[in-house]
Amino acid sequence: MKKFDVLVIGAGPAGIFTALELNKQNPNCKILIIDKGRNIEKRVCPERTQGYCSQCAVCGITSGWSGAGAFSDGKLSLSPEVGGRITEYMSQQEAQDLINYADQYYLNFGASPDVYGLNNQVIDDISYEASKYDIKLIPCPVRHLGTEHAYQVLKAMYHFLIEKENIHFWELTKAEELIIEDGVAKGAIVNKKGVQEEIFAEYVVVAPGRGGAEWLKEQTDKLGIVTENNEVDIGVRVEVPNSIMDHLTKDLYEAKLVYYSDTFDNKVRTFCMNPGGVVSGEHYDGEVAVVNGHSYADPKLKTQNTNFALLVSTRFTEPFNQPIEYGKYIARLANMLTGGGIMVQRLGDLIKGRRTDYDRLKKSTTIPTMKGAVPGDLSYALPQRYLTSIIEALKAFDNVAPGLYSRNTLLYGVEVKFYSSKVRVNDKFETQIKNLYTIGDGAGITRGLMQASVTGVVVARDILSKE
Ligand SMILES: Cc1cc2nc3c(=O)[nH]c(=O)nc-3n(C[C@H](O)[C@H](O)[C@H](O)COP(=O)(O)OP(=O)(O)OC[C@H]3O[C@@H](n4cnc5c(N)ncnc54)[C@H](O)[C@@H]3O)c2cc1C
Repeated sequence: MKKFDVLVIGAGPAGIFTALELNKQNPNCKILIIDKGRNIEKRVCPERTQGYCSQCAVCGITSGWSGAGAFSDGKLSLSPEVGGRITEYMSQQEAQDLINYADQYYLNFGASPDVYGLNNQVIDDISYEASKYDIKLIPCPVRHLGTEHAYQVLKAMYHFLIEKENIHFWELTKAEELIIEDGVAKGAIVNKKGVQEEIFAEYVVVAPGRGGAEWLKEQTDKLGIVTENNEVDIGVRVEVPNSIMDHLTKDLYEAKLVYYSDTFDNKVRTFCMNPGGVVSGEHYDGEVAVVNGHSYADPKLKTQNTNFALLVSTRFTEPFNQPIEYGKYIARLANMLTGGGIMVQRLGDLIKGRRTDYDRLKKSTTIPTMKGAVPGDLSYALPQRYLTSIIEALKAFDNVAPGLYSRNTLLYGVEVKFYSSKVRVNDKFETQIKNLYTIGDGAGITRGLMQASVTGVVVARDILSKE
């Protein structure tokens, strides 16, 4: 029988930081981290290396050591206002202190010391200008690692941890079933490279990310753990020349803008801004392709374009209880029209009610950075409410970024954030099942690297406080 002190399911930032903090406070703690993807050095994405998506059974972008963080843009949001809901579990000050603490880990493992978004005069000027058009700017300092450095920093954490005798990482190992006895977590049945086995541990930390959120929901339903609907964020990835966004991104790196659409009064927000970046894809369960974006820190790898997500947030009420399935359904519609890939459309064509085809795309003055994207018509995939809200927000944001509402602005679809159901946990992220914790994006608590990392630190400290 294999027995550990702590079993961590999912090696994304939430899982990694659980292990880092456990190890820091108690170097003897025996930890097993499992992930259904590969170790960081073996992770590859054909789309990034060869320009096309081969729909791998386990997506190299979202799974493996570092989770969705491995090839991310590596923007560490240093404000508790951004990247999740940890302030629902702790005070603003505690959240800020934990962010600063986790940030120090990133710095220690090689993150760049530069922080954007600290120039208060620039923030005030942009906020003032935006407010004239009913747009709100959410200020947030950002440490930008860049895709290549995020990978290196997370790889350094990998080597640091796996070199410890009592810390083990099993790649290509999927948790299938949690083992619970008399209301206490005991471990999990896992499938390691096709072979099933039972793993036992004093504490089980479930950190499966957005890609594992559906599996977690199945488990919580079976165990009678209460979950709540989170918002569903659906939209597009916008791509424009750098010249349109530079005055915002130069100091802020990421301009987090919020607008309530004129027709439906829906919240529309910019998210994950990548100056000089590339649009990329990600896959869930080898079936659903959704769009994302990232950028490199190296000036030589910068492109002429800036991309960002434009997302419409909706919180559905009863009887609806399938936010993930709803998002996937819409993504599948877009995939169906493109033969399984990401769709791209010029804003001008969308407004004229016509498809972008290869000829029209060739005329675009914004050259798409995602070469494999298939020109199409987003109005066949996105419900009218989303499309109208997106178009209205682009029109409004054009006031602070002139040129954004242009016929050559590219829209890639669809971008969906699977914010999962929010699992009911206490302020240390422990579920109603004793010694069973769930954290990070998969538990519906966070939405970004930094807050996911913070949840890992909180859990590790709580486990150690019980010993
Ligand atoms: C392209 C891209 C760019 C991004 N850019 C940024 C950014 O710049 N800044 C930012 O803050 N955030 C960014 N994000 C989001 C960020 O990566 C996530 O918020 C963060 O990684 C969440 O951490 P997590 O540990 O909760 O989950 P994840 O990182 O998703 O990790 C979960 C892990 O669990 C594994 N898993 C799932 N189910 C199981 C199972 N049953 N058994 C075993 N393993 C399982 C998965 O394989 C995965 O490796 C980006 C994401 C993507 C995809």
